[in-house]
Amino acid sequence: MENNRRDFIKKTAALALGTIAATSAGNKALAATQFLEKEIIVPEGGKFSLPKLSYEYDALEPHIDKLTMEIHYSKHHQAYVTNLNKAFETLDAKTAATLSDLDDIFANVDKLPPAIRNNAGGHYNHTFFWRVMKPKAGGIPTGKLAEAISASFGSFDSFKKEFTDVALKRFGSGWAWLVVNKGKLSIGSTANQDNPLMKLDSVEIKGKPVIALDVWEHAYYLKNQNKRADYIFSFWNVVDWEAAGQIYEMAK
Ligand code: MN
Repeated sequence: MENNRRDFIKKTAALALGTIAATSAGNKALAATQFLEKEIIVPEGGKFSLPKLSYEYDALEPHIDKLTMEIHYSKHHQAYVTNLNKAFETLDAKTAATLSDLDDIFANVDKLPPAIRNNAGGHYNHTFFWRVMKPKAGGIPTGKLAEAISASFGSFDSFKKEFTDVALKRFGSGWAWLVVNKGKLSIGSTANQDNPLMKLDSVEIKGKPVIALDVWEHAYYLKNQNKRADYIFSFWNVVDWEAAGQIYEMAK
């Protein structure tokens, strides 16, 4: 009885994160796809699509403003999807046939045109970012992720300090990440739309993302102008630690 209930809770949590879809995408070890719906990460009929946001544009107010969310999602993210699809069409049939999802793209990114690298990264990174935020969130992680953060960084506060520092120091446009790699947590940043799943020497942090923060100016300029530090401070109020914890459990 107790086991059945636990299984049900597990399955429900998995459904909420879209892991069922990932399972149906195939049996290989999926990294990018482990918590995203199949239609987002697999080009159905040759097309990637914009994922649905699970909250309204104004839901993260006052921390992240409505106009920024609207433009960021409906213009910026949409452009990455549109341009990824365009770039995908330019690939020869033999190459395209070897790329069945974002994981394949990230694993072979050094052999693909820059437009694929930039736009596949943009599509994945934003999808991930939307999923690790939610309204009335923030606070502190719990469970296994909380234990791992304390073990790796000393305390949650020192983790926050290190992540904030890395996000501040990323020169120009890019992303800050908390990743897990073979059970070990680490913090790092990537340039432009690169991410820790990409097999590239220039990507210094490797692993499966647990949380992500977009530090492109388009993510904060309307509200915070040049003050990236204020935006990072706001981000801590909308991090969905519950989702991050589930992602960590699947990824570690
Ligand atoms: Mn962005």
